[in-house]
Amino acid sequence: MSTLTINLVRLPLLSRFKTSFGTETQRCGLILRLRGDGIAAYSECVASSNPYYSYEDNDTALHIIRDHLGKVARGLPSPGEFLERASTVKGHNMAKAAVEMLLWDFHSKRKMKPLHRMLGESKGHADVGISLGIDRTGLMVKRVGEALKRGYKRIKVKIEKGKEYDIVRAVRASFPEIPLSADANACYSVRDVHLLRRLDRFNLLYLEQPLDHDDLIYHARLRKEISTPICLDESISSVDKALKAFEVGAADVVNIKPGRIGGLTNSLEVIRIVRKNKGHVWIGGMLETGIGRSFNIALASHRLVDYAGDTSPNEKYFERDIVKNPFVMDSGIIRPNTGPGIGSEIDERFLEKMTIRSWAA
Ligand SMILES: [Mg+2]
Repeated sequence: MSTLTINLVRLPLLSRFKTSFGTETQRCGLILRLRGDGIAAYSECVASSNPYYSYEDNDTALHIIRDHLGKVARGLPSPGEFLERASTVKGHNMAKAAVEMLLWDFHSKRKMKPLHRMLGESKGHADVGISLGIDRTGLMVKRVGEALKRGYKRIKVKIEKGKEYDIVRAVRASFPEIPLSADANACYSVRDVHLLRRLDRFNLLYLEQPLDHDDLIYHARLRKEISTPICLDESISSVDKALKAFEVGAADVVNIKPGRIGGLTNSLEVIRIVRKNKGHVWIGGMLETGIGRSFNIALASHRLVDYAGDTSPNEKYFERDIVKNPFVMDSGIIRPNTGPGIGSEIDERFLEKMTIRSWAA
């Protein structure tokens, strides 16, 4: 007999996070808890309260999990079996990922193994970069300096149309040698090639998701017209999209967000596809609490993940986390938890306090 509960939680962010599609001041998300066989497993859905980043949001994810995926999960299938059975539901990869990862935690705990060891060959650590939201140019340069002092191995700046050149130029002028990238969050069109070509002189590690969130074809065209390597993020929403991205030559680098592409099984498959095509791969994050982050860190520790990811420690985002053992970065690396499963100690009282509503699925 197993039970699945879904909590909608609201956590205030320490500082606003601005990207080209909006500004976030709090994280509202779904936390899942599966109890069975004396084990309590947890996961987090990366959907947010609005459909600006993706068509999925907390309401659609709640509906899909409660009405379609919950009963499958309560049968405690392996993550792979779950994905098979969940394939009757089209899309909704954020909802599927939340349940799939819940099952990874459950089965790792059942085997008494840490999650990162369950995922294949582990380096035992994740290399960590930082993603800096859009800010005034002078402040951006200051924040880059602070991040470097803290040991981050790669700096990424968010850019927006019309400001890209000034932002990147200012950072590069102050820090000529650092591994630097820029993330556009899909705010350009193919007609903006002239703007993006101007960034070629700054020797960026990559330009992330310049064009539409769903596009591959125009990225392939752009890739021939600029020398900066292209990293796809939003466009890689499934294993199939990753295969097609390399088929048409749309990417040099891929940012995998497990919570967006159906979970860890699919993420491992995308890692294999990228490396087989001689691309580079790193693991991103989506303002997750310590629960969601623990899955990302475990995956980012995989031997085949070769670039530093956006998996900063949580004190960057939240005053207080819903885990009692948040990750700590040391010299630009974070080590995955060593306990069974995700190894996170859940602060149940704080979780309850931050819960707006909960449901049984
Ligand atoms: Mg991105």
